[in-house]
Amino acid sequence: MAALELSREAWDVMWSDAQRRAPEEAVGLLVGRGGRAFAAWPLANASPQPLVHYLADPSALLAALKSADAEGLEVLAVYHSHPDGLARPSARDREEAGWRVPYVILGLAEGRARAFRLPAGDEVEIRVEP
Ligand SMILES: [Zn+2]
Repeated sequence: MAALELSREAWDVMWSDAQRRAPEEAVGLLVGRGGRAFAAWPLANASPQPLVHYLADPSALLAALKSADAEGLEVLAVYHSHPDGLARPSARDREEAGWRVPYVILGLAEGRARAFRLPAGDEVEIRVEP
């Protein structure tokens, strides 16, 4: 399984987004080219229970996908945070998973991010550029 390659900037933007939005869950896309994600695009969390769940705002998601398409960028991963939890998928994360790309989960309680293919749950290595 190929690793998920992130630029330092994408990594930092994703983490600061998660920390800024805590105690609510953050959500966003990791986009790039050639298998390398060089940008993190935060999306509004439209879940009615944002403390324990995420739902990318549908119109924000559509706008982001259009932008990516217009700029020739690929969506390489979807991220979200667990403000009080660990970097592993919840049962609900597995049930609601619809993307083929890896899901990055930021566990703020352990200060760690991990990536998984869902719903199967296979872990994907994250490589952050120095
Ligand atoms: Zn989750």
